[in-house]
Amino acid sequence: MTRLALILFCALAAFAAPGAARAAEPVEVRIGVLAYRGAEDAERSWQSTLDHLARALPHYRFRMVSGTAAFLTAAVAAHRLDFLITNPGHYLELKVDYSAAAIATEQDLEGPTPSEAVGATVFVLDDHPEIQSIADLRNLRLAAVAPDAFGYRAALRELIERGIDPARDTRQVFVGFPVDEVMRAVRDGRADAGIIRSCALEKLVQEGAIGKDEFRVIGRRPSGSLNCQVSTRLYPGWPFVTVAQTPAPLARDVAQALFAMQPGQDEKAWAQPDAYGSVQDLYRTLKVGPYAPFTRLGIADFIVENRVWAGLVLLAALWWLTHVARVSYLVRKRTRELQAAHDAARLRGEQMEHTVRLSLMGEMASSLAHEINQPLAAILTYARGCERRIEGGADPQSLRDAVQRIAVQAERAGDIVRRMKDFVRKNPAPQVPIDPAPALHDALALFEPTARAADVIVESEIPDSLPAVRADRLQLEEVVINLLQNALEAVSAQEEKRIGLKVRVNGDRLDVSVSDNGPGLAPGAEEHLFDPFFTTKKNGLGLGLSLSRTIAEAHGGGLTVDPGDGATVFRFYIPLIEEPARV
Ligand code: ADP
Repeated sequence: MTRLALILFCALAAFAAPGAARAAEPVEVRIGVLAYRGAEDAERSWQSTLDHLARALPHYRFRMVSGTAAFLTAAVAAHRLDFLITNPGHYLELKVDYSAAAIATEQDLEGPTPSEAVGATVFVLDDHPEIQSIADLRNLRLAAVAPDAFGYRAALRELIERGIDPARDTRQVFVGFPVDEVMRAVRDGRADAGIIRSCALEKLVQEGAIGKDEFRVIGRRPSGSLNCQVSTRLYPGWPFVTVAQTPAPLARDVAQALFAMQPGQDEKAWAQPDAYGSVQDLYRTLKVGPYAPFTRLGIADFIVENRVWAGLVLLAALWWLTHVARVSYLVRKRTRELQAAHDAARLRGEQMEHTVRLSLMGEMASSLAHEINQPLAAILTYARGCERRIEGGADPQSLRDAVQRIAVQAERAGDIVRRMKDFVRKNPAPQVPIDPAPALHDALALFEPTARAADVIVESEIPDSLPAVRADRLQLEEVVINLLQNALEAVSAQEEKRIGLKVRVNGDRLDVSVSDNGPGLAPGAEEHLFDPFFTTKKNGLGLGLSLSRTIAEAHGGGLTVDPGDGATVFRFYIPLIEEPARV
């Protein structure tokens, strides 16, 4: 309890104290100063200004914070500075990023006008007479403190205007601060020419750091009231700058104090702020600072900034790619396997079909042989008759009729042989539009000798021409002969053996029905009739009906059975098509 009371007391004291303290103690104001020749030099240059402000505004305590441009920018970003004294280029960058505003521009009392106060000096060792102008810098090594040093940038503009691409046509040697290092690099032969802020060379000579004639300034330009040698255009002097967080009353007090400053010998004075338009032109030409192209913050920066997410996205993309590759490999493999299985099944089907045809042909072989024998016997009879007549000295003209009969019989035998050959042909042909009538007539012609030999009466109704169907002619014949052969076997034990073959157009399809007056289906056979290898015959294959149904379905049709009373009817149908039949 006592401890809690103590904490409360301390907290209240802390709230009450600052007002009292502020009244007594001056508020600290931090002024950042760009130090291009080290902290000491910076302090020497600007101390008089700070002293003056301290005298003019005693209720503030002014503190100088010197550093490089990068250091000062970071301090502004961290709200640790109230004002800055810096070079015009750095000011331009801060203007865009941190709403910096110039409230005064430096002015040397006996020196140049504030708008033409800063430039760059390009110098070489005096024993290089061949280097005279800026254009002579092509292919040389150039030393400067840093790529973003204002003097260096001022010189780059001059190079570019003379057609020299600094990145491609020169080599840069950046030596870092202080500016004395640039002079050392040229003296040691690490660079052919040095680029420094205007008046820095004169200052070094004055301090005795370099000999008076040791270096020679190249590409000299008129320097107006600036009492130094310069190689570039002149730009406004350094600005005194406020930033976004500078309190407005403080900025006003400081500006008034600066304009009222009465400096002594070698001390800075402050004038109305310049617009710094010429500095903007310079940065625009070089495409740097606020004019740098967007690519500076390109994809690479974005990825580095969001590397955790980028890593996850990369992992996800890799997983996805692997997944896609695996799936497409499996799909390709499965497709190959299916294709192989399909090819094997097709081959098996074709072999089976051929086997059934051969078996049907085997069953019809003897009657077909007999059928061929008839025209051969007739040919023999006619030939003998002709021989006898020739021996008897008959007129050759009288033999014409007999010879024509021989030709007719030979054609008949030839027809039978062609049908047999066609029927046992190995490969099925593609389905094409055909008139089915000739195929059906051929099938009947092939079957009739067998029927005759078995004393079976075949009653057929086949029109001479029919509408077109899309079919493989050989398969059509195979189905019909198969049904006829089954019917023949079914009636074999009947006293009067009758088979019917009827072909008719039934709406948009063609019906082929084969009926017989046999004893009907065996008990329990109906549901297995179309199963492969189902047979009730001693030497049956059990493949005919299953294959016939497969063929019918492959033609978009079907095969059905009507067990009926006294007549078993198998009906085979396929669709008619609009297209005309191919001849
Ligand atoms: P297979 O003729 O070699 O036996 P099928 O597949 O052609 O093979 O016939 C299968 C079975 O169908 C036959 O064994 C038979 O029992 C029966 N069958 C076929 N046609 C008829 C028919 N017209 N009358 C009675 N049964 C038939």
